[in-house]
Amino acid sequence: MAERKPWSHGRQESRHARGYGKAHVKMREHLLSTVILCEECTRNGRVTAGSHADHVIPKAKGGTDERSNYQLLCASCHAAKSIHDQDKNPRIRRPQIGLDGWPIEE
Ligand SMILES: [Zn+2]
Repeated sequence: MAERKPWSHGRQESRHARGYGKAHVKMREHLLSTVILCEECTRNGRVTAGSHADHVIPKAKGGTDERSNYQLLCASCHAAKSIHDQDKNPRIRRPQIGLDGWPIEE
């Protein structure tokens, strides 16, 4: 039986490794207190409350934790952008997930 290593659990290394550590939490709080509306919706003439701090350029693509690389998005804009950011092959369509947690049929 493998011995459990004390450093193999109980820490948030994967969360930090993805770039969502303290700096991200602080920036999210800053955005939520200063930007009220979803910036993407605002660009498209919609008025929607923002709730998700988003990296304009994803960390995986070299984006920084600077304020200039952050935008506040609503849930649907954030979900749409996350799918776009992660999609390495645009021919493979990923299902959209609705607010109720079920895939959206198209
Ligand atoms: Zn939006």
